[in-house]
Formats: sequence, structure tokens, C-alpha cells
Amino acid sequence: MAGVRKIKPPSPSFPERIRLHLDAFGVALREAVKPSRMTIQYPRELRKRPKGFRGMLVLDVEKCISCFQCAFVCPANAIHMKKAPNGKYYPCVDYAKCIFCHYCEDTCTKGAWKSTNFMDVAFKSVEEMLLTTEKLINGPEVPEEEREDEYVVEYEVKGTKLGLKKDYSPEKLVEIEED
Ligand code: SF4
Ligand code: SF4
Repeated sequence: MAGVRKIKPPSPSFPERIRLHLDAFGVALREAVKPSRMTIQYPRELRKRPKGFRGMLVLDVEKCISCFQCAFVCPANAIHMKKAPNGKYYPCVDYAKCIFCHYCEDTCTKGAWKSTNFMDVAFKSVEEMLLTTEKLINGPEVPEEEREDEYVVEYEVKGTKLGLKKDYSPEKLVEIEED
């Protein structure tokens, strides 16, 4: 056919083939001893989240003045205001709807919302995804037995190479934003 050129497959010589196989074997050996992978083995490994990461929310009820502003501003309609025994209304968050935009945190004039670096959570039912005010006060909890073998990894630059650094401090799995 005009304009089409047939390209011959490479046909390395015997010594060249041996060299290519040895090269491939060398790469496999190097990766087995010192992997240079950039992917992480989620969920056993978690990537270290940057400062200001918008994860699950924590509520400080002492600061909340029940102004309803966070519920009004929430674009996903994920905030429900619940009446407490003291007669005031406090927010609850429905994580079936929340899109982690943190407009609630940004809009709260009292600084009652805080972010965590954590969002790796699974719920057994849709009903469980509605976190009441009481649950929001404590923030996300990871049971100790589920933390075994988990660690945080972060990217590190070594010269011109990018690698992964492991950090085995389990308390770093859930960090609450500082004031
Ligand atoms: S905006 Fe802040 S103070 Fe107002 S109801 Fe929400 S959490 Fe409470
Ligand atoms: S993070 Fe965004 S979507 Fe989630 S509760 Fe706050 S305002 Fe609503």
C-alpha cells in the first residue's frame, strides 16, 4: 500500500540477546532488593498528607454558637443541626453527602471546625455515615488492632531521584489541624 512501510522486528545477535536477558535479570534483582516503586500498597500504606489537607472534620462544641452558618453554606446539604439537651442546636455531618470542601470550616467565625489529615474510613451502612455531634467532637478513631503493620509513606527527593520514605509512627495516621 502506498505510504506504508513495513518495519522489521529487531533481531539481536546471540551475544546481544544474552546481554539483554542479563540486563532484565539485573533490574529484577535490584527491584527485589531495593525497590524503586512510586506506588503505595494502600490501605496498608498511607501517603503522608500535606499540611492543610481537608480530611474528616472535628467539632469543638465549646466554640460553637449555634449560628447555623455552616449548615446554610454546605453545598452538599450534608450538615444537619441537632438539638442538644441544653436547648442549643449543634451540627451533625452526613458523610454520605459530604464532598470535603470544608466550606463549613472556612465560614465558621468561631473556629469551631477543625480538619484532620484522615479520610480513610469505611462505614457498614448509610445510616452510620451520619456522624452525630457527639461523634464529631472526638474525631475519627482508628482501633489499635487495625493499625498493626500500617505506616505512612512520603515522597523524598535524593539528588535527582524521587523515592518513598516509610514512617512507622502510628499516631501520625490521624492528626488534628493545629490552631
Ligand atoms: S458555623 Fe460554627 S458556630 Fe455556627 S453553627 Fe456552624 S460550627 Fe457552630
Ligand atoms: S466539608 Fe463541605 S460538604 Fe462536607 S459538611 Fe463541610 S461544607 Fe458540607
